[in-house]
Amino acid sequence: ASMSLHIPFDNSFARLPGAFFSAQAPQPVTAPRLIAFNADLARLMGIALGEVEEMAQVFAGNAIPEGAEPLAQLYSGHQFGQYNPQLGDGRAVLLGEVVGLDGQRRDIQLKGAGRTAWSRGGDGRAWLGPVLREYVVSEAMHALGIPTTRALAAVETGEPVYRDRALPGAVLTRVAASHLRVGTFQVFAARGDLASLERLTDYAIARHYPEAQGPMGLLRAVCTAQARLVAQWLSVGFIHGVMNTDNCAISGETIDYGPCAFLDSYHPQTVYSSIDRYGRYAYDRQADIVVWNMAQFATALIQQMEDREAAVEEATEIVHAMPGQIEAQRLERFGAKLALADAREGDAELLSDLLDCMAENQADFTNTFRALGTLQARDQFTDPMAFDSWEAGWRARRAGQPDPMPLIAAANPAFIPRNHRMEQMIEDAVAGDYRLFERLTQVLAHPYDDQPEAADLKRPPLPSEVVQATFCG
Ligand code: AMP
Ligand code: MG
Ligand code: MG
Repeated sequence: ASMSLHIPFDNSFARLPGAFFSAQAPQPVTAPRLIAFNADLARLMGIALGEVEEMAQVFAGNAIPEGAEPLAQLYSGHQFGQYNPQLGDGRAVLLGEVVGLDGQRRDIQLKGAGRTAWSRGGDGRAWLGPVLREYVVSEAMHALGIPTTRALAAVETGEPVYRDRALPGAVLTRVAASHLRVGTFQVFAARGDLASLERLTDYAIARHYPEAQGPMGLLRAVCTAQARLVAQWLSVGFIHGVMNTDNCAISGETIDYGPCAFLDSYHPQTVYSSIDRYGRYAYDRQADIVVWNMAQFATALIQQMEDREAAVEEATEIVHAMPGQIEAQRLERFGAKLALADAREGDAELLSDLLDCMAENQADFTNTFRALGTLQARDQFTDPMAFDSWEAGWRARRAGQPDPMPLIAAANPAFIPRNHRMEQMIEDAVAGDYRLFERLTQVLAHPYDDQPEAADLKRPPLPSEVVQATFCG
């Protein structure tokens, strides 16, 4: 029997007024080839799989599936602190939404689907490297338990994309709770289009936070979600790399995997992104930046409030509460990583002492936490004795508490998408070899399990393998 792809679209964003988007079909490509498909996610979304050729056509944008209403979304945003009044989907097309078996509504978007009304100078395309990177890293984040957009499919287009050289083109099918961003609100606030701003606020509340009351209720809910998210990033050594307000999702999901990276050896000021020249989005700046982004969100939301003065006061109180919220969440996450069953005075210092020692001794972030309680922990430090004295304090702090090992394994991943493996995976794939991509996808689906056969994927980079810079693509 021949299978046929079926996506049970149930679109809501396309019902909003035209100010929010521009109807936009994806631009067809020459020779689509399906290179990855996430069958588990498809099942959860209620998607019936089709023949491989049909799926290649649909996820390349060559065939529009029944029920899709393709469009490009409008938004603006602050890029590295500078307001850009008009961004919008320059290379992405929203096909529509589905409500999954879990009752969750999700967007299905093709990224790299060709030029749109908002492409400006861009070609509307993506190359294979960033597509595979986003596929692997977003799925790894999901498996780590961190809210994130996900990857449903990846297709090679059969067409070259020109960056510093000709590279294979690709399209990623991205799935998200929605693609509403801080920048989606900013564009209407900046234009003084209050009717659209109000409509968008109501839509976002209904879709993401139905219990929230009005614009300030929405602000409170998003601040809570973003505080939780950034604490989770910090706990796994994740550096987003482009925390512009257009890359800050209202849902509280991690979105836009461009030049993101994970810490190898720990240093708080680590920056990988080649475009982040001043370290605005360094590892340890991320908590402050989330607060800054939420201040921009508050500024946009306030435009629709009748009593501005009262709204400013309330919004200020909400945003000013964030640093405390983030720090509490961070200590809770790292407390779990240290296998502390309760919170006590002195824990923040115990943690910062460890982190300082790690920074001074080039300790690998992931492997150090995973090895706590074992003899291997001290080997992560250039001066193992520096760790020994910290460890004595940690053991004293844990006196009388249960065996740390199961707690350590549950809170500290063994596997993260290491930057040098991502590079190697991309290099291999460009040469036509997808084995490392497939292996990483499988291993990273279970990051907290010891997988002895994958020990090579735990290894930090050799000096010659260290990735110094990452790029947007
Ligand atoms: P990002 O830095 O990925 O958040 O992208 C910022 C803006 O640039 C968004 O409006 C993107 O849609 C747009 N953009 C990024 N790459 C391209 C491209 N190759 N072609 C057209 N627009 C792009
Ligand atoms: Mg973006
Ligand atoms: Mg991007």
